[in-house]
Amino acid sequence: MPSKVHEVTGHKFVATVLRQPSFCSHCKNFIWGFGKMGYKCECCKVVVHKKCHQEIGWECPKKEASVQQEAEVEMSSDGEQQCTNSPHQFTKHTYKTPKFCDHCGALMYGLYNQGLQCSTCPVNIHKRCQKNVVNLCRVNTQQMAV
Ligand SMILES: [Zn+2]
Ligand SMILES: [Zn+2]
Ligand SMILES: [Zn+2]
Ligand SMILES: [Zn+2]
Repeated sequence: MPSKVHEVTGHKFVATVLRQPSFCSHCKNFIWGFGKMGYKCECCKVVVHKKCHQEIGWECPKKEASVQQEAEVEMSSDGEQQCTNSPHQFTKHTYKTPKFCDHCGALMYGLYNQGLQCSTCPVNIHKRCQKNVVNLCRVNTQQMAV
C-alpha cells in the first residue's frame, strides 16, 4: 500500500518507521519499540503517535507555506523572528544531559549549543526545527510542570 496521507488541521501525517527514539509531540510520551510507527507531518516534521495524530490541537504552521518560502528561511541569521501571537523567546542552549526536541521528538545531538530553549516556557527544540514551530508560547499554561 502506498503511504497514505492523513490530513489533520493542515498537517499531512504519514505513517513512518522511526529510526531513533522519539517523543510524541502531542502527549509527550515516548514512542517505544523497534520499527514502531509514528505519524510524521510531511510539512512541519512533527512526530506523534498514531493514536494521537487526530487529537493534535494546533494547526500546521507550514500549511500555507510554499517551497520558496522554506528556502528563504533556511539560512536566516540568529536574529529574532518577530511574529504574530506571542512567539517563543528562543536562545541557544547547552544541555548537560541528553535532551529531546519538543517539536520533532528526536534527540538533540552534540556537546554544545545543541538546541534552542524558550526562556518563557519549557520548550526545547532543534535549531533546524525553529522554522517549523508554532509561535504559540504557552506561558502560564504549564505551571504544574515544576
Ligand atoms: Zn504539520
Ligand atoms: Zn502521543
Ligand atoms: Zn515559549
Ligand atoms: Zn527537532
